[in-house]
Parts: sequence; structure tokens; C-alpha cells
Amino acid sequence: MSRYFLTTAIDYVNSQPHLGTAYEKVCADVIARYKRLCGFDTRFLMGNDEHSQNVFKQAAEKGLDPLAYCDLMEQVFRKTWARLDVSFDDFIRTTEPRHRTGVSEIAQRIYDAGDIYEGVYEGWYCVSCEEFKQEKDLVNGNCPLHPTLKPEWIREKNFFFRLSKYQRPLLDHFAANPGFLRPDVRRNEILRLIESGLIDVSMSRAGQSWGIPLPWDRSSVVYVWFDALINYASAVGLGNPADAEMFAKWWPADLHVIGKDITRFHAVIWPAMLMSAQLPVPRAIFGHGFMTLNGQRMSKTLGTIIDPIDAADRLGHDPLRLYLVKEIAFGGDGDFSWERYEERYNVDLANNLGNLVSRVASMAHRYRQGRLAPTGVGSDQLPRIGEQVVADYRKAMDSFALHEGAAAAFRLIDASNEFIAATAPWSLAKDPAAADRLGQVLFDAAEAIRLAAVLLEPIMPSSSREILRRVGAPVDGLNFDRDGRWHTGGERVLLNEGPLWPRKETSAVTEKPVPPDTPPAPAAVGAPALVPSAPQASPDPTAAGATPTAPPAGAAPGDRISIDDFMKVELRVAKVLAAEKVEKSKKLLKLSVDVGSEHRTLVAGIAEAYEPEALVGKTVVVVFNLKPAKLMGIESNGMVLAASPDGGKPTVVTFEAPPAPGTRVR
Ligand SMILES: [Zn+2]
Repeated sequence: MSRYFLTTAIDYVNSQPHLGTAYEKVCADVIARYKRLCGFDTRFLMGNDEHSQNVFKQAAEKGLDPLAYCDLMEQVFRKTWARLDVSFDDFIRTTEPRHRTGVSEIAQRIYDAGDIYEGVYEGWYCVSCEEFKQEKDLVNGNCPLHPTLKPEWIREKNFFFRLSKYQRPLLDHFAANPGFLRPDVRRNEILRLIESGLIDVSMSRAGQSWGIPLPWDRSSVVYVWFDALINYASAVGLGNPADAEMFAKWWPADLHVIGKDITRFHAVIWPAMLMSAQLPVPRAIFGHGFMTLNGQRMSKTLGTIIDPIDAADRLGHDPLRLYLVKEIAFGGDGDFSWERYEERYNVDLANNLGNLVSRVASMAHRYRQGRLAPTGVGSDQLPRIGEQVVADYRKAMDSFALHEGAAAAFRLIDASNEFIAATAPWSLAKDPAAADRLGQVLFDAAEAIRLAAVLLEPIMPSSSREILRRVGAPVDGLNFDRDGRWHTGGERVLLNEGPLWPRKETSAVTEKPVPPDTPPAPAAVGAPALVPSAPQASPDPTAAGATPTAPPAGAAPGDRISIDDFMKVELRVAKVLAAEKVEKSKKLLKLSVDVGSEHRTLVAGIAEAYEPEALVGKTVVVVFNLKPAKLMGIESNGMVLAASPDGGKPTVVTFEAPPAPGTRVR
């Protein structure tokens, strides 16, 4: 069995984990669970970084011995990861004896290789980053990552690591291993940095007691970054003869999942350290993006920190995991808002997946006493979609495009809802001649649910198990090769139980849920986000586009509408990515816009007022939850808001200081 060893960054314990910290652990957990599902002998390492001066200070402020403080914080971190169902196999603390052993081993090897020399470091040091800073990197004299903090000027005896010597070997390694650092944007950034020349880096600090002493000079400790990186190797037994077999089995790591801000340490310094120590370098590094809260940087001082336990308590840990994985392109930056979180919960889980499970179980009981078996009478439409989805999912997950993996699973769920609407089992049930057809329809729908649950297992482990249980499928010992494909045979006994994810009433989406066992209104199936009473785009191109002139249905002109009516119209900030004239139309422009969660195409009747090029880059407002409409053969998904004087040219609504795409307008 192939093995797979992956790690996350280890965390400073001077503050408790926030949602940004949790994002990394959840994504790494999804990869770990996916590898296990695929049959890899998987080892997933996480841990805490304790030898930081910040940790030492934090402990002193609380009147605690630093180690006692770290013990307390370990419990805080473990509790958070347990609440999020993060399935690490090993948790290392850098104060553990096994880590000291590993650090001493690598430091000594590098020293013996002649790559460490004594010198004096004089320069800036940001205590918050625990990082030496070059003058040119400071912004108004302050740390670029800590704009309110002036770094300390220090002058002390340091031992230096000859990083400069590894410029060529690193470039060669990058050239020979195109997948070494991902995504490509990080790889290019780091390649440019290496090409511009590397300077030697400090690997020790003088006059400190909190840390691991250098083997050859007990008056200095190993610099906290040099120390921290080694955790990945010390956790699998580096330097301990009793663990030689374990080390041989697990090193090098297959994947380090880290934040983009620490890519330089992981993709430059760490491999150079390993090369010097004559140890294999990790096979891949993935630098994920940052999370913002309502478009703002997460920061304690700004009050934009979210406790992941609060987020899990609000809607459940699986809905939170799904949000983090599905809504943020892995590798890019992403945003969290409570409103968007609840909205995705309602759309993806309450209305879509949860509703599908309930409806199929309910129909299975109503028409077949809960027992489903294939009859062979039907089309292979849904099975073909299932197989395609599996292929897309696998390709995405194998290349760490976790968001695309999640999206693939939801394509199968959407297709199943559409399949039910199209085949109308409630009508088949009225026709005795259609009994076999009905049996196959219900079996296929249940099979699609089973398959989707298998694909979602890495992302929503406990929900996946619950769904599998309800559709009468095996829950334990899942294996992708066996369970991750369309099954055509076997009897299923479905359980008809309550809703998996009860709807949350929020201001964002206010349509009523579809009752699980009644024929749905056509508009609600496969497009659960749509609000039936919102103004509709007219299919008539001359009336199309930019201006919502009709009041919401049910309100006569001049009548006041309630706030609830208004809230049904979901307005969002969007950025125009591309614009072009619609052929044979004087009025229409075709726009491609970024609405935060996705890119959309829409058609707007503003061609007489705007050249297409003038719109690109503009931030506008769109009606997000408008039903799609075909205009001049183009499907328009939304509507751009504009002021439209009678007989005059429209002016699109825009902003002085554009908010992030996806921001709600109301
Ligand atoms: Zn800093």
C-alpha cells in the first residue's frame, strides 16, 4: 500500500486558533481523508510551535511557567480541532523530547557539512513575526505584516546558515520538480526570489533561555523558525535510532500545507536545510491563501476574529467545512461572512442535498415500502452523469482543487434533483404500467445520493455517514475504487427520517422550502436559490436589461412593500471582467462579472450609454437571485442596476470606493 504523509503548519500558542487557522487544518484534513478513501496508508501531522518569544511573554504575563502555559494551550487547540472533526494522526509540540532530538540532529549535520558559521547579526527583528527584517521590506519603518509594530533593532552573536550556497541546487530542484510548490502563482514568486540571489540567514538567537540549545554552543538557542520547520521530520523519528524504521517509512513528507505568508521558509530555507543535512526534501508544498471577514483582514485589533467553535456551533461542523472548502478556491484568498455562511447552508444543504435525501426516502416509502431494487427499465442518463462527476472529482482532488471536487459532487446532486423533476415519480405512481420505470427511477435517485455521499465523505465526514446509513449503503471501510462509482445492482432499504439540515430563517433567502414528499413547484427544483416573486427579466430584448422598472409581484405601483419583500431581492456587488456588444442588438451588452462566489454572464441594456471597454474593471450592482433569461440567444444570469431617466441614457450604479465582489447591497 502506498503511503501518504502530509502536514500543516504548526501554530504559535500565544493566541487561540481563529477561523483562518482552522481553514488550513480543515483543507488539509479533506486531503488526508481523501487519501485514506483512496486507500493510501496515510499519516496526517499537526502540532504547536512553542519556542516563540511571544509564547514566553504571554506565559510570563499570565504568571505561568512557559511549559505549563503551553500545556493549557494544547488543550485549547485540541478542543478546536476535535470540534471541527480534524482527523490528525499525530500532534507534535516543539517542546517534546522527540523534537529536541530531531533539531539537534539536523543542526549538527548542517554544522558538520560546514554550512554554519558564527557572525554578528545587526538589524531589525519583528517579534510578532519572529522574523529578521531587511530595511527595504519595512513600511514607514514598521513591519509590513504588523503595520502598527516597529521592529526591534538587535545586535547579537548569531550563527548563520549558508543559504546562499543553495541557490543553484534549489533552482535545479524546482526545474526538475514542477509540482514542488503549488499553486503556480507561489511557485513563480519564489522562483523569482531565488533567482534574485539568496543571503545567509541566522539560525540561532543569543541570550535566550526558551528554546533548544545549539549542540556546539549551549549559550545560544536554535532560532524559532529553524526549530519549527524541523518538526515535520522529528515527528517521524529523525535522529532517534529506535525510530529509524518509522523515519525510513515516512520521510520525505508528501505534502506540506501552509499559508502563503510562510512559503519562503518552506520552499527555500527548509529544502536548503535538508539538502545540507543530506536528507530528502518534501515532495510537494501547497501555499493556501488568506481568509477575510466581510472583506477585511482577520485581526485581533480590528475585532475581525472568528472563533471556529462559534462557527461550528452556529450550523454544525460539516456545514462549516463545506463552506470553507466549496466557497473558497483552494490556493486563492477567500471571504467569510455569517450571512453568506447561512445562505450557503440553506442553498446547498437545507434546500438541495438535505431536501433530495428526504424526498427520495419519502417516495421510496410511499411507493415501495422503503425497499428499492433495480428493474432495468429506464435510461442511463443519471448513471452517465454520475460517472462523469466521479472523473471530474478525482481529477480535481488529485490536483488539490478541493473547491472543484466539492462542486463536482454538487453537480450530481443538482442533476438528481433535475432528474426527479423530469421523471415525476408521483405521476409514474398513478400508472400501473409504469411500475418498473418508477422502481428504476427511485433506485437511480438513491444511487446518485449514495455516490454523492461517498464523494463528500472527505469534506463532510459525519454527514456522509448519516446519508449512507439512510440510503441503506455500507458506512464503514469506504474505498474509492469500490464505492466511488455508479452501482447498478443490489437492494436498498431506505430510512425515512427527519430533515438532515433544517432551514435557517435568515434575511438573505426567504423562499419557502419544498415539502419533501410532494411534487415540487418547477421553479424550486434544481434552482433552489431562486425567489419566485422577484422581478423577472423579460425575454423581450427590447425591454431587457439594466433597469428594474416593475415593482415586485403583488405590489401595485405606488404601494409600499415590506422589508421582507425587499429582502427577497438579493443585490450584490459585482466586478465587470469582460464586456462585448451583442450582435444585431443596439441596446445590449454581454458582460462577464465576478459576483464573489462565481463568475456570471449577463446581458444588460446599456450599449447606447457605454462602450464595452469602458465597463471592464468597473464595480457595479447586480440582482443576484434573478431567474436566468435568454436574450438574443444568450443566457443572462442576473441584471445590472442602472438609473434610467425617461428618454435618457442609463447610468449604471457604481461606488466611490468599490467593496469586494459578492458584498450584499441593501
Ligand atoms: Zn511582523
